[in-house]
Amino acid sequence: MAEKRDYYEVLGVAKDASAEDIKKAYRKLALQYHPDRNPGDKVAEEKFKEAAEAYDVLSDSQKRASYDKFGFAGADGSGFGGFGGGGFSVEDIFRNFGDIFGGHFGGSGGGFGFGDIFGFGGGGSGRRVERGSDIRIHLKLTLEEIMSGVDKKVKITKLVHCPDCAGKGALSDSDIKSCPECKGSGYVVKTARSIFGITQSQSVCGRCGGSGKVIEKPCRKCGGSGLVKSPEEISFKVPAGVAQGMTLTLQGKGNAARNGGVNGDLYVAIDEIPHKDFERDGNDLIYPLFISIPDAITGSEVEIPAIGGRLKIKVPAGTQSGKMLRLKGKGVPDVNGYGAGDLLVYVQVWIPSKLTAEEKELVEKLRKCQSFNPIPNSDDKRGFFERLKVFFR
Ligand SMILES: [Zn+2]
Ligand SMILES: [Zn+2]
Repeated sequence: MAEKRDYYEVLGVAKDASAEDIKKAYRKLALQYHPDRNPGDKVAEEKFKEAAEAYDVLSDSQKRASYDKFGFAGADGSGFGGFGGGGFSVEDIFRNFGDIFGGHFGGSGGGFGFGDIFGFGGGGSGRRVERGSDIRIHLKLTLEEIMSGVDKKVKITKLVHCPDCAGKGALSDSDIKSCPECKGSGYVVKTARSIFGITQSQSVCGRCGGSGKVIEKPCRKCGGSGLVKSPEEISFKVPAGVAQGMTLTLQGKGNAARNGGVNGDLYVAIDEIPHKDFERDGNDLIYPLFISIPDAITGSEVEIPAIGGRLKIKVPAGTQSGKMLRLKGKGVPDVNGYGAGDLLVYVQVWIPSKLTAEEKELVEKLRKCQSFNPIPNSDDKRGFFERLKVFFR
């Protein structure tokens, strides 16, 4: 047997992916490698099963915790169930599709998984509803835009319904005929005899691809696909507080589907442009501030840059190099609306490396001053961490 791939790798998600992300990733893979879409393709079937197994574990918080801790050993030992002995069957996978693709599909399926995944129309028509593919784009944002949230417009080229045939794919309506192979049902039933008796299996009609219709004269513009590429401008809101690695999902803004199916989604991955003044750490912003030796000793008021203006801050007398001044709530707003992070001003005392003769003389005078000697550690009765506390407050 081939070496097993890491479940997170299989689904293409991060180790700390949310349950929703895991579900989404699996949903995508399941659609991509669905046996119905890849008839006779063994590689696709394996990938389909592999994704189902990964999802089975990662979607269950207990199994996931065990897998995170023990890897596949956790899977074998503590009974991850399902796939322990000999892997998942495709039937097993279909049985679990209900919660992935939403319970509102189905109806005519009656035990056939396809109904759950593509959604049979009501009333047992058996026609398959396709879903357009998703589109993924990257969006660069400045820290200023992230701080306030921003309205964005992007231009993308995507598949839309062909204007000439209204997405039907045919030259005229009379060129659309019921499929002779499946008599318009979209699927065919095969009966086989074996030592276990007679078994019936249902598969999507190869002639019409499950639509139940065939086109005699295809549309000249789209060649019968019903879809053409077209540029489109899409407007959307980016909430304040987004971060590198987050993805916004714009439902239904992806590629259109054939046969009047549902549109795919548009995924917008956030790329943060590094800021010249600030470093971002979660919702906190860090600003390095250099002050002069006299300012550190006597204290001073300094102006620092801030998003959308400048901020005046007080550096207290006797500030040590390395001290962190915390300005509460001046950081990045939380994307879920839970307040905002802090602005951390990291103070460094500027030590000059070149001095004039006159300056050197002054420094020599300072050297003789009692107050300029560091507190010797032997005289300091405080503990190590107590002594470090001078840097934080
Ligand atoms: Zn057919
Ligand atoms: Zn067309």
